Amino acid sequence: MRRFPLRVKITLWFTSALLIVVLFTYISVLSVSNQILQKTIRDNLIETVENNYNEIRFYSDISDMDLSEKSGHFLKFESGYLEVNDDFLDEVNRVYTSITSSDYVLLYGENPISLSTKDIKFIDSRIQTLKIDGTNYYVFDRKLNSKGLDSLWIRGIVSEEQGSVQMTAIIRLSLILMPIIVIISCLGGYNIVKETLKPIHEISETARHIGEENDLKKRIELGPGNDELHRLADTFNDMFAKLDANFETQRRFISDASHELRTPMSVISAQCELSLENPGSPQECENAFRVISRQSGKMSKMINDMLDFTRLEGDPERYKFEKIDLTELVNSVCEDLALIGEKGIKLEYSAEEGVVIDGSRELLSRLITNLVVNAYRYGKEGGRIWVELKTQDKKVLLSVRDNGIGIKKEEQEKIFERFYQSDASRSGAGAGLGLSMASEIARFHGGKIMVESEPEKGSTFTLVMNL
Ligand code: ADP
Repeated sequence: MRRFPLRVKITLWFTSALLIVVLFTYISVLSVSNQILQKTIRDNLIETVENNYNEIRFYSDISDMDLSEKSGHFLKFESGYLEVNDDFLDEVNRVYTSITSSDYVLLYGENPISLSTKDIKFIDSRIQTLKIDGTNYYVFDRKLNSKGLDSLWIRGIVSEEQGSVQMTAIIRLSLILMPIIVIISCLGGYNIVKETLKPIHEISETARHIGEENDLKKRIELGPGNDELHRLADTFNDMFAKLDANFETQRRFISDASHELRTPMSVISAQCELSLENPGSPQECENAFRVISRQSGKMSKMINDMLDFTRLEGDPERYKFEKIDLTELVNSVCEDLALIGEKGIKLEYSAEEGVVIDGSRELLSRLITNLVVNAYRYGKEGGRIWVELKTQDKKVLLSVRDNGIGIKKEEQEKIFERFYQSDASRSGAGAGLGLSMASEIARFHGGKIMVESEPEKGSTFTLVMNL
């Protein structure tokens, strides 16, 4: 059974279920029909006997009889005569009726049973059932009680097989119809199942194609519809789209990373070759070492940033969320960063009291540091940085403002992309990962970072999170 295709299994299953239902219905119908038929036969027997009951007369004297009408049969009976009217039906619908004396002598009519009438005792107005040669018979007796007839009985007999003709017809019809119904349902069901399962074939084909060709651009196309399989296909397509986007990001990340690492690497190897070929004065050697040290520092920072990205995306469980006193965090991080004092820039900070959120202390401290370090890096000589933490409409707003070089409008959207650096900052210590890391951390906390900036006037980066 396991090796059968799904459509065959489903068809076999419901055909078996249908067969059981049809058989059950068939047996029930036969049993009920048989009961109804038997009851009809018994009612017919009683009715025939009762109708014949009034068709017998007794005459003690022949002169009382109206022989001119000749409307019946005349029999000599005891001291008089019996008149059996023509309406007395001794056989109708296989119900046989006879007139029998109380000592079981058949006077008139028919007895279809091979037994002598006296083998069946008279019981007035009650149906008796007896079996002869494997056939059931119903016997119904009525005692006559009008004057001169009180020693006579009317006996009706009918065979139970009387109903078998109709039953045979019902059985024959069912035996023809039943297989036809089952075959039609089986074929119809098989086709419906086959049509219904077609999308699954399409889904598995697409998945196979993607697996073999590494073509994440391929999508499952089922045409219009809104059933479970169409929804399954949509889910798969969404998944393929996300995988595709993720692979694209990874690919770009790797290519950007190798590109970015290549520059300091070439500077280091060029510097090494130059110094080996021409060692020069101790001062020149020192300068060469400084270049190598700066470039390797840049590389190591870039590698650390990339590692942090990978951890944040690939292993978010690593950063456990806990209740954080953001006021305390902002104050302590800014206190340390104020010591940088690069280019004579002054850092001022103010934090609203008691701002507590769920988050990762390590990541949020990293986010603040990245924004403040940028404000120093792109600040002007003797400039200012303002850090402010406040709450507003159930939101936490953390802003880092500087009066530095600012960012051009067209660059403001790009600065959050990985490895993006404005031309002016390329030669600096950064690697273009600081802001993208900060916005990744904000997203990780269910928030976002917005930027407002004007060239030569300064920039404000604001982190917005839900309380
Ligand atoms: P980088 O390592 O180059 O600083 P970031 O991702 O932190 O990389 O920043 C991307 C770019 O955004 C920077 O190269 C710079 O041009 C611009 N930028 C970031 N912060 C500021 C700021 N406070 N003032 C002006 N420009 C900024």
